[in-house]
Amino acid sequence: MVRYRAAWVVPIVSPPIAGGVVSVDRDLIAAVGAYDAGPVEDLGRVGILHGLVNAHTHLELSWMRGRVPPCASMPAWAASLMAVRRGVTPDPPEPIADAIREARASGTCLLGEVTNTLATYGPLMDSELSAVLFRELIGFSAPDPEALVAAVSGQIADLTPIAWLRPSPAPHAPYSVSASLLRAIARASAGKPLSIHLGESAQEVQFLRDGTGEWRGLLEALGVWNPGWEVPACGPVEYLDRLGLITRDLIAVHGVHFTDADLSRLAEAGATLVTCPRSNRWTGAGRPPIDRFYASGVRIGIGTDSLASVDDLNLFGELAEVRRLAPGVPAARILESATLVGARALGFAGELGSIEPGKRAQLLAVRLPADVRDVEEYLLGGIEPGDIRWLDEP
Ligand SMILES: [Zn+2]
Repeated sequence: MVRYRAAWVVPIVSPPIAGGVVSVDRDLIAAVGAYDAGPVEDLGRVGILHGLVNAHTHLELSWMRGRVPPCASMPAWAASLMAVRRGVTPDPPEPIADAIREARASGTCLLGEVTNTLATYGPLMDSELSAVLFRELIGFSAPDPEALVAAVSGQIADLTPIAWLRPSPAPHAPYSVSASLLRAIARASAGKPLSIHLGESAQEVQFLRDGTGEWRGLLEALGVWNPGWEVPACGPVEYLDRLGLITRDLIAVHGVHFTDADLSRLAEAGATLVTCPRSNRWTGAGRPPIDRFYASGVRIGIGTDSLASVDDLNLFGELAEVRRLAPGVPAARILESATLVGARALGFAGELGSIEPGKRAQLLAVRLPADVRDVEEYLLGGIEPGDIRWLDEP
């Protein structure tokens, strides 16, 4: 048993504790609270925080860092990404391992990782990170959705099972996956977290409303437009609701263009909305209404998205952007988004996401300046890897 004492302990499930103590027994948290008596390892002027949860990444795109310039239109940005990716198969592995190290060094312990190839499974096995691996399916005119899903389930069954890596099928987005494939994926992943890009661009809303616009143009240019596709003539959340996807297992990523009605429906279902504001700016998706997200009552998680649309995988950088865009949201709620809410959405809340007895001791010591009064607010100011140490590492 080790007892760590720090200037601040931030349990997430209760207010920060000045001069608090966290007891760790092997890999598990044994106790947390105020200092009473007895021997401690005094860490000095640091804050002890649970490792962060990056609820949306695409590690296999890490080699595209800086290669797909920012754009004013999200479909045009996606076309540019596809053009860059087309010339390089498979996605080079070294940048995946580098990105995992970078995420770990900046304080992340759990990922909601979207993968087209499962190429990230091996590198994650060799890392300290836990993850849900969403094996992403794309298919707007797929003739046999059930066969596609069965093939992916077969790939997943062939993986070496690892308790802290949980693969499952997931759809890319409503403009790239047909209704029948969306239903087939939902059936195959029932009871597990299900991630989808949703309400990301204004063009997506237009496409679902009347079947026109830049996404339609891109599908046609790619030769995958499906003339049998029925225009849903509604918003993205209502469309998924009709298909049975709006449940507590849903992780709707982005939601930049959600209406209040979209947000209420997600809140009512207990679904989670994951915001990635730095990526939204880069891809031209727009500015996420983060104040409105929090006011709606929906669970909010936070992600960086891939290195194709963000400078780094430091989730503390994303928190600083959330704070910049939403100065009125309480710091405690933003920190909860980056830890417990993400862990819950990914099905890991029983073991990760907060400093509570019985949970895994994935604990960070973040260096603090001398005069920190509001440690939660300080943690939203942009923490760099040099100020972070994992407590299980020397
Ligand atoms: Zn994404």
